[in-house]
Amino acid sequence: MSDKDVNALRAENSELRRLLVKNQWGGLTPLKSNGACPECAGSQPPLGGGHRPGCAVAAALAQT
Ligand SMILES: [Zn+2]
Repeated sequence: MSDKDVNALRAENSELRRLLVKNQWGGLTPLKSNGACPECAGSQPPLGGGHRPGCAVAAALAQT
């Protein structure tokens, strides 16, 4: 791949990661709930326990 392709992929990856971070607790939640992951339904820390084991969103965000 050319440097241009790599840079384009980096930019796309960065944008997708930004959206994932922004929306990771954007799932439907009961009233008064802090937020929940739309993928695993884990609740947002520190009130909740965070993503459940095996959550694909958590796995994607863990990638460097
Ligand atoms: Zn999750």
